Amino acid sequence: MRKVTVTCIVCPSSCRVSVREGGEGLEISGHQCRRGLEHARNEVKNPMRMLTATIAVTGADFNLLPVISSAEIPKKMLIPCLRTVYGLRVQAPVKEGSVILRDVCGTGVDILAARTITRAPAG
Ligand code: SF4
Repeated sequence: MRKVTVTCIVCPSSCRVSVREGGEGLEISGHQCRRGLEHARNEVKNPMRMLTATIAVTGADFNLLPVISSAEIPKKMLIPCLRTVYGLRVQAPVKEGSVILRDVCGTGVDILAARTITRAPAG
């Protein structure tokens, strides 16, 4: 039987939730609500995370554009997705929420601009 302790990150209470995985499925304890139960189950079965990063931008007063995934992606896909994202380069102007990359690494999730960046004034 495998036992893990998960810190629930769904709300600021940060409950410590125990998950025992055995022949009869999962035994989950220590959660204070149903959302914590779901979170602990997902953490053991298929942990998901939002991806945030910065990518290169040219033609602006800033060198970097913050980006965020449109939804959570499987945690095991974070490193390959980050490798892809860090290779991106965009040209200003960029509008917050615009799609920078569709379907990153076949996850079905898009990479979006997390802020608006205007073109640098000429000269
Ligand atoms: S188990 Fe419920 S109360 Fe506890 S941190 Fe998670 S969401 Fe918050």
